[in-house]
Amino acid sequence: MKKKVIKVAAITLALISVAQVAYAMTVNGAYISKTATEIRGVFGRYANPTVYVDQRACGEPGVPDAHACGPYTISVGTAFLQHAESTYGNYAAKAIIGHEWGHSIQFTYNINPGQPYMELQADCAGGSFIRYAVDTLRYPSFLATAVSTARAYAGGDHGTPAQRDYYTRWGYSNGVVKCMNNLPRV
Ligand SMILES: [Zn+2]
Repeated sequence: MKKKVIKVAAITLALISVAQVAYAMTVNGAYISKTATEIRGVFGRYANPTVYVDQRACGEPGVPDAHACGPYTISVGTAFLQHAESTYGNYAAKAIIGHEWGHSIQFTYNINPGQPYMELQADCAGGSFIRYAVDTLRYPSFLATAVSTARAYAGGDHGTPAQRDYYTRWGYSNGVVKCMNNLPRV
């Protein structure tokens, strides 16, 4: 009888570990709020936007994806962020919010390098947040996830997939101050 109980426990554990691999993290208000606090820990000295969730705070016409409008407002949609998280991997949504925070820094300091560098500079900021998340907050690296996400949403003002890849990694290596002051042109 005791042996049977142990076997059931082992099966349950196996199912839990499969579930952890198979399903992405849930992106909800709590996840987004926690992420904003984390980003504020490293970017808060440069910009302090409020992150609005599912409110079309930037006047988006449809379901919100992720926008920064002005220095104080970031507007995101949980469905969009959950899709990124489920498709590209855990913490993809954190990388996206880090990118938007990069725009808040640009708006705060009136930095506008023109497109596509406005977007690539935000990618750079996003990459630098990932470095902080890994080194200081002890997250497993989600740099590859962020790069996959950025590449997937490339084109137009956002630059090419290769550019988004390059600037996300450059920001990871060089930090947000260099992103804002010494952005290379590639
Ligand atoms: Zn952007």
